[in-house]
Amino acid sequence: MLDVIIIGSGPAGLTAAIYAMRAGLQALVIEKQPMSGGQILNTVDVDNYPGLPGIGGFELGMSFREHAEKLGAQFETAEVTAIEAATEKEKIVVTTNGRHSCRAIVLAMGATHRMLGVPGEETLRGMGVSYCATCDGAFFRGKTVAVIGGGDVALEDALFLARGCEKVYLIHRRDELRGARSLQQKVFDTPNIELIWDSVVESIDGEGMVQMLQIRNIKTEEHTQLPLQGVFIAVGILPDTGLVRELVDCDEGGYIRADETCVTSIPGIFAAGDLRTKPLRQIVTAAADGANAITSLENYIYTI
Ligand code: NAP
Repeated sequence: MLDVIIIGSGPAGLTAAIYAMRAGLQALVIEKQPMSGGQILNTVDVDNYPGLPGIGGFELGMSFREHAEKLGAQFETAEVTAIEAATEKEKIVVTTNGRHSCRAIVLAMGATHRMLGVPGEETLRGMGVSYCATCDGAFFRGKTVAVIGGGDVALEDALFLARGCEKVYLIHRRDELRGARSLQQKVFDTPNIELIWDSVVESIDGEGMVQMLQIRNIKTEEHTQLPLQGVFIAVGILPDTGLVRELVDCDEGGYIRADETCVTSIPGIFAAGDLRTKPLRQIVTAAADGANAITSLENYIYTI
């Protein structure tokens, strides 16, 4: 029986693998594709991971993986189809390759940003289209950008970007924001944020880099073109927890309820990274979760 199966090979899963190997545990990482790094694979320049300014997302993901492999972590490419909390001492992970038995599991499947699904979004991703203002905002200092959405993340992103950008358009599909009143007031009081109400994005245009946003007012049907350099999409994120929603306690958004100990409602199953309830979803906080999950897991397996 393996000591630990880690599902997912983003920063949380790979850090968990590193910590598990250093703790003398036998660890298997199961990943959907033979390509580690998770969401950071889509990040051109990371720039907020301490000590590695400007490192590429792909390069950082690969170095996390090499580190885990060097310490002896095993990897398997497969889709997990079921998880069974068989007994306190044994958990079963069923994959497209077969069944594995282990003493404990770290869930690290991550989350994906909800996409707008408009022309230009996919092709200009990383070339001005971003899903993370705190990760990429610094590249847009002195420039004009738009934030799409009306929730807490959109408001926080607009406020964050307004500190360094010349102008921030906040584009929302309704005439009322969803985010917290306190954030709304801050947004209204910030002179370089312009709210554009009742409007949806038609397309994001540019040759190699974002140059223009085409929007449509859904009440007046008026079309407007906004020349700008960056588009931050903040229309919600979707935790990749479909597999375990019936097994562990999740909140209404589908995030696994767990604090920084990464302990879930099921003994022996731990949740690390973007799929757990937490205020800040970044590489550094995902990596911290990987370390915390293994520390909690060690306490668990040596006491049962
Ligand atoms: P959210 O609260 O679900 O807001 C998503 C926003 O995007 C909504 O305003 C929604 O519009 C809009 N939207 C969704 N699909 C769209 C589409 N296809 N086109 C245009 N607009 C679209 O998501 P979030 O802001 O990512 O926040 C996620 C959760 O984290 C929330 O529960 C939030 O409260 C929490 N959070 C809390 C804090 C904090 O407490 N400081 C900070 C960040 C996040 P509608 O309003 O019309 O639906």
